[in-house]
Amino acid sequence: MCSINVFYYDLKGEQKMEDCIFCKIANGEIGTLIYENEFVAAFDDLNPQAPVHTLIVPKKHIQNIEDLHFGDGEKCHHGEGTEHDGPCDGKYIKEIFKGIKEVARIKGVAESGYRVISNCGKDAGQTVMHLHFHLIAGKELGDKII
Ligand code: 5GP
Ligand code: ZN
Repeated sequence: MCSINVFYYDLKGEQKMEDCIFCKIANGEIGTLIYENEFVAAFDDLNPQAPVHTLIVPKKHIQNIEDLHFGDGEKCHHGEGTEHDGPCDGKYIKEIFKGIKEVARIKGVAESGYRVISNCGKDAGQTVMHLHFHLIAGKELGDKII
């Protein structure tokens, strides 16, 4: 069994992936956004693990932290033979963290505190392959893993 990833670009030039639920939500095709700007969107988790459980995602389809590309100039370098011309993702990370702070304010938990988690890959149990940051809050969160 193999699957084919079909990418397309919306009118603003953002990379999306067909059949990706988070691309559709971030695009405003389905669901309800609680915050968005040009680069990121935030919406409440379908299966909340705390009184506040919101997901902050880039509008570009990036699979997870390992799929982020960084570079300082027009070209990106990720080691020997990996130079490419594609866009770099630093702006998404900046906007994600701005979005996290904004969501914390919208939800009224900036003062009381919150936890941010991003599962990356199999061992972390990532189930939706579109980069997302869980913001959980609204109660004492109990035992920490770290
Ligand atoms: P992961 O396990 O990949 O870190 O987290 C995926 C999260 O996405 C889960 O907490 C799950 O409840 C949530 N989720 C999955 N499908 C949907 C959906 O269609 N809408 C929303 N709002 N959340 C979803
Ligand atoms: Zn996606």
